[in-house]
Amino acid sequence: MTEQMGVAVLGATGSIGSSALDVLRLHRGQYKVVSLTGWKRISALKRLLSEFTPAQIAAEPESGSVVETNVLEGCEGSCYLGGEAGLVAAATHPDVDTVIAGVSGAAGLQSTLAAVEAGKRVLIANKEPLVMCGQLLRDAASGSGACLMPIDSEHNAIFQCLPLELQRDVTSGRGIGSRSAGAGVSQITLTASGGPFLRTSAAEISNATPAQALAHPTWNMGPKISVDSATLMNKGLELIEACSLFGLDESQIDIIIHPQSVLHSMVGFNDGSLIGQMGNPDMRIPISYGLGYPDRVSSGIATMDLAEIGQLDFERPDLERFPSLILAREAAKSGRSVPIALNAANEIAVEAFLDRRIAFGEIPEVVDRILQNHKPSEASDLEQAVDIDLEVRALASEMIRRGLSS
Ligand code: NAD
Ligand code: MG
Repeated sequence: MTEQMGVAVLGATGSIGSSALDVLRLHRGQYKVVSLTGWKRISALKRLLSEFTPAQIAAEPESGSVVETNVLEGCEGSCYLGGEAGLVAAATHPDVDTVIAGVSGAAGLQSTLAAVEAGKRVLIANKEPLVMCGQLLRDAASGSGACLMPIDSEHNAIFQCLPLELQRDVTSGRGIGSRSAGAGVSQITLTASGGPFLRTSAAEISNATPAQALAHPTWNMGPKISVDSATLMNKGLELIEACSLFGLDESQIDIIIHPQSVLHSMVGFNDGSLIGQMGNPDMRIPISYGLGYPDRVSSGIATMDLAEIGQLDFERPDLERFPSLILAREAAKSGRSVPIALNAANEIAVEAFLDRRIAFGEIPEVVDRILQNHKPSEASDLEQAVDIDLEVRALASEMIRRGLSS
């Protein structure tokens, strides 16, 4: 019998986490869930503990009642550790070979970095750490021998379309920047669904409610990324993620709207070829690709029926109604601490929108104002990155507290 591969699922109670666990359930003989982390939804985490009996678990120490936390601590056969230390322990457990980074937001930065430094195979869904510290993560992978595997659907699609030697450059953290031209790669095209407001007027967009923003037409995702998809900041973050992960310049990356969300992204070659990856919009496909790579394992998702879809549409994004795309491209161009500031301001603004403290149209406004006042600085280590992130969060929170008109 072949040895089971140990897996850590960070953010197991979220959308990515549950898609990952669905795939792992299909292959119980091949993979063993060694660690699981949740955060506030302790009862959901408890159900997963009894099903997967992991060795290591983590949750927010203050999130549950004392009774709930005691249940986690007393969970037979599992070691419980709360907070950031728990996330890092789950990511670096010695029996873990593969880490699925599915925490939402910058909160996943330290555990993702710890997994890379520990030389794990890291399936990265959590794009914010790459936006903030792509170079740091890639350098850590080069040093530790970790394997970086993008599972954000667009970046996974790009990865699937690259020639084998460039795939190795991605997984090793070298990036494809210096060798992409030699391999004939001329350009990357990220596709975007356009979100729920693709056909909505600017006036209606600016007053959209959380329920409208969360109703994504093609993907079923957690709240933060759903709001990002509605502002198109998700595609902006993905532009920076692609620059970071592949070591490319923003000018090499194009964004195109494709409402059906079945062509997940494309690589353009110097002979005029455009190679893309297609599939139903379901994260179990890129997750199973990352788990099985270089082999393919079943995802449980059927191959698409193109005749049923009938038609594929493409159009350019409207930068006037979706200014987040301009802000993100400027941040990608500026580099250094600017993407960290963009991400932190956006996270605070999205949270405030979901709490109904600001209007939908004010999300890009908060980000814009923060960037206008941000003095770019070096952010080459974790400490610097965390400091800038915290500083910008405080500024954005204060700006929202005072009100944007003041
Ligand atoms: P989600 O909100 O559904 O789940 C987030 C998970 O992170 C939960 O398990 C939650 O408990 C945990 N978490 C939240 N805050 C935390 C904190 N402070 N510390 C530790 N854990 C915390 O989010 P999601 O949709 O699964 O997205 C997760 C990540 O994957 C995001 O970065 C998102 O951009 C990326 N992603 C998601 C999808 C998708 O289809 N959902 C697709 C591509 C990329
Ligand atoms: Mg994506």
